[in-house]
Amino acid sequence: MSEGRRARPQPTPETQHFWDGARAGELRLQRCNVCSKVYFPPRPFCPSCASRKVSVFKASGKGFLYSYVIHHRPVPGFTPPYSIAVVELEEGPRMMTNIVGCPQTPEALELDMKLEVTFQKLDDDISLPLFRPTKA
Ligand SMILES: [Zn+2]
Repeated sequence: MSEGRRARPQPTPETQHFWDGARAGELRLQRCNVCSKVYFPPRPFCPSCASRKVSVFKASGKGFLYSYVIHHRPVPGFTPPYSIAVVELEEGPRMMTNIVGCPQTPEALELDMKLEVTFQKLDDDISLPLFRPTKA
């Protein structure tokens, strides 16, 4: 880790279920009860049909590497180089995150590689969902 702390997410009433899940080691998504759309980030209505009949469920935590950049400049809480990645989840939504557990190089970070969620505890309230290569 470099100097300083990583920016801490601030849960809101709309995102509290997500952070409660992360703290419990679960990646939680929302699904529309009307049109079945699965979506992220959290919001109280369906982005597809605007219905407010939505529910929260535990996602598989599996996905694949859709896109990434490797960041080389120091930022509080990060030791460069580190990846800023977009992971496409098995359930469909894409999530911005970091890839951990492998070298932060283009050789190690292959597009479409299989990933699984892992949680990094920041404090008693916040655990961050990061992704690591799925063990074969
Ligand atoms: Zn819908």
